[in-house]
Parts: sequence; C-alpha cells; structure tokens
Amino acid sequence: MTLAPYACHPDHSRGRRFAQPPAPTRTEFQRDRDRIVHCTAFRRLVYKTQVFLNHEGDLFRTRLTHSLEVAQLGRSMARSLSLNEDLVEAIALAHDLGHTPFGHAGQDALNACMRPFGGFEHNLQSLRVVDTLEERYPEFDGLNLCFETREGILKHCSAINAQTLEQLEPGGVGRRFLDRTQPSLEAQLCNLADEIAYNAHDIDDGVRSGLISLAQLQQVPLVDDFRRQILAEFPALGERSQGRRLLYETIRRMLSAQVNDVMAASSQAIERAAPADLAAVRQLPALIQFSEAMAARSQVLKSFLLHQLYRHSQVMHTTRLAQQVVQELFAIYQAQPAEMTEGFAARSTALAGTADEATARARVVADYIAGMTDRFATREHERLSGQRLLP
Ligand code: MG
Repeated sequence: MTLAPYACHPDHSRGRRFAQPPAPTRTEFQRDRDRIVHCTAFRRLVYKTQVFLNHEGDLFRTRLTHSLEVAQLGRSMARSLSLNEDLVEAIALAHDLGHTPFGHAGQDALNACMRPFGGFEHNLQSLRVVDTLEERYPEFDGLNLCFETREGILKHCSAINAQTLEQLEPGGVGRRFLDRTQPSLEAQLCNLADEIAYNAHDIDDGVRSGLISLAQLQQVPLVDDFRRQILAEFPALGERSQGRRLLYETIRRMLSAQVNDVMAASSQAIERAAPADLAAVRQLPALIQFSEAMAARSQVLKSFLLHQLYRHSQVMHTTRLAQQVVQELFAIYQAQPAEMTEGFAARSTALAGTADEATARARVVADYIAGMTDRFATREHERLSGQRLLP
C-alpha cells in the first residue's frame, strides 16, 4: 500500500522520547498500536461507560467497543485516502484511555474537584496514561510512543496546559495549541471518525434503550431521509416486529453517507491545498472535513442527541449519582491517601514536604480515580462511604 506524500511515514517519525532500536518485523506505528492493545488502561475500557452505565445493559457500547468502532471507521477512510492506517488505528485505540469512569459525568465531576489544582481534561489524561501512568517497562514510565501517535491522542488542550507541556517538552505535542497549527491528517481523521462513530452508536443504543425512538428522530433529516428511503424500498420493515432491522439499516446507510462525504470533501480539500508533505499539512487549515451540507446535518443530529438522550431525565439521574460517587471518592482520598492502592498511596506519601505538595497530591488522587472502571468506583465508594449509590 503506497502512502500519499503528505501521510505520516513511519520511517520519518519524529521518534520516541526514549530512543529504542527498531522492531524487526513491525513499523513504528504498528508497534505503538500493539503497545496500546497490551496496556492496562486499554483493558479497563471495557468496563467504562460511553453513555449508558456499563451495567445497565450488556448490549450497549462501552469505551472499548466505541474505540474499536472508531478504529474501524478510521482505518477504512485512511486506506482510501492513502493515509497511514496503522497510525490511525493506534490513535483511535488510545484516544479514550484517559476517560474517567461514568463517561462525561465522571469527567465533569473530576474536573470540578480538580479546579483548584489545575483541572482535569480527559484528552490530556489519555496522553498522561501513555506517557507516564502505565508502568510496564524497566527503563521508562509510560509506553514511549511515537510523537505522531501522542500528537493524535492529544486532540484538545487548553492554552495553559499546552504551556506546561511546552515547558516539559519544548517543541513537543503541546506546541500546536500555542501556534494554532494542525496535527497530521491521520490525527484529523480520527477526530471525525470519533464523531461519526458516537453519533451512530448513540442512536442505536438510545433507541434500543427505549429512551429515544425512530419516530422522534423524524426531526433529524440525516436519519429520517434514510428511514423513509428504506421504507420505500422495503415496506415490510414498517412492521413493528421489524423495528430493529429498520434501525440497523438506517444507521448503516447514515454511516456510509458520512464516511463517503468525508472522503469526497477531504480529497477535494487535499487536492485544492496540494500539500507537498506533512510539514505543509501542519500549516494549512484542517483538510479532513465533512462537506458544509453534511456538517450542518451532523450538527442537527448532535443537538438532538444532546437534548433528547444525554439530557434525558433517566440519564441525568444516573449522571448525578455518578458525580456524587466521584466527588465523594475524591474528598475521601484527599483526606486519607492510604485508602488508595499501594502505588498511588506511596506516590502521595513521597510528596510530603515538597513544593506544591497539595497540587501534586490532588493529581495523584485524580490519576487514581480516572483509572477506575465504573464498577470499581461504585464498589470503592460503597466501601468507604457505607452507601451504595449505583446498582
Ligand atoms: Mg471517543
């Protein structure tokens, strides 16, 4: 498979923070992907919420299945745009490693707890997982991934955190947020694959959970145009018993339409801008994109999901309980660091008497909580507070 001149070539990688000899049979990005799949944080994704709590149903997406769907969509688009599939796969599989338990509810609660100590951002935490928190190698902390993989993982970053990163690693992955330049096309592609994946699977999970209905989705043209098209072709799918099949076919066509749209719009943008190489890509506006029409349609769907699903009273109820679990766990570990597992308790103890001790200790607690699965957080909370808030 030939890569486009503006794709990320593994042989031209900006390398790893700790130099390592090349692997005999794998490219550098394939090696990154393998390191990610074998890491502990990756296995925990299976027990972390996407929208529905992990235990609410066996068929709903978790962060793991979401990440696999992003990788699948990303790879197939990368292939047809002659971009680096392996890099896209590595970024996609790692992009959510820093997510807290309980989805966005957990992230918001932890961010609120950490506000006096520099805040909490899940993208930055994903980078922290692969740079620092994984302990698997004798010579270094983290997974020692390539620059291009780390750059893709850090999808967003506040200016203040970018400045901190820049101090630690001059010209590194924080730089582009200060210069306002773009990452590789592979990283850009992962962002859109992420969006396409969650829009589609949240409809699927939302409808199957009974919280939203295909009938309600008639206000969303991106979904409803396909529903009507399918019913015209297969009138029998209008039967109640065929509802699932109608749902899946609708989502399938919607996914294909979005993927085809991204590929067409991005190819055109690439052709127009004609970047000679990756360095040129970085200086241009984002080239991986929806067409304007699709971006508008996708926006309508996102806003529907926000109001009808993510803010559904039933989801909000669990959201509030999940936030309480995170807030109370944070307060307890802050007061009693020895209640954390050994490694984290030791990290906290070692900070005694150092400069910025309170901030550094809070970060240890945040790292510990962010790494938890939904059920571990629920049980820990019950053990420490005597109260079971979630099933
Ligand atoms: Mg995601």
